[in-house]
Amino acid sequence: MNILIFGPNGSGKGTQGSLVKKKYDLDHIESGAIFRKHIGGGTELGMKAKEYIDRGELVPDDITIPMVLDVLKSASPNGWLLDGFPRSLNQSEQLWEALQKDGVKLDYVIEILLPREVAKNRIMGRRLCENDNNHPNNIFIDAIKPDGDKCRVCGGALKARADDQDEEAINKRHDIYYDTNTGTLAAAYFYKNLADKAGFKYIELDGEGTIDAIKETLLKQLA
Ligand code: AMP
Repeated sequence: MNILIFGPNGSGKGTQGSLVKKKYDLDHIESGAIFRKHIGGGTELGMKAKEYIDRGELVPDDITIPMVLDVLKSASPNGWLLDGFPRSLNQSEQLWEALQKDGVKLDYVIEILLPREVAKNRIMGRRLCENDNNHPNNIFIDAIKPDGDKCRVCGGALKARADDQDEEAINKRHDIYYDTNTGTLAAAYFYKNLADKAGFKYIELDGEGTIDAIKETLLKQLA
């Protein structure tokens, strides 16, 4: 089972992605995580990529595309869930070409839809509980609104993560994601237009629902 997942920062892509990964026992291949591993290991690729990542820009395709295609080749026989790649129209085209060439079947492409303003609010509304980072609290999401200024799960003190409040960085990321000409939405639409002809299923999920509602819709659509 091979799956691509698209969704802006703030859409819950990570949560839904780990659900899909567990269901089919897939390798979760995240381009951002591969870069971080290279940076941590001090590799040449990592050093080159770091300057772009630090500026919030995409790492150039001549570094990114071969790196991801290489990891895909050694993925588990159960298949992969590719997350964070492709992020541009060119990456989409190159990935499709490589899959065709290697005879690799794509089964699903998942897109989580979320208006840009909502995505931004979600990021900026996130609050971390001092007792447990997994306690969900968000001042802009009714279902997980904190209890006053305290954690809705345990009553612990809450604080915002500094990078969640960096509006400029959020805007920069969303500029890339919501670009329908050459950016990440263009990459998603490339697959949307191909789906019927190429024989894979393109699943669109309304990201404004609760995590459980999205989960349920997603599971119904997967075989
Ligand atoms: P992420 O963890 O997905 O937010 O990725 C962290 C950073 O890695 C991004 O801000 C980019 O600089 C870089 N990156 C991740 N995926 C890609 C990609 N597909 N193409 C180019 N750069 C990427």
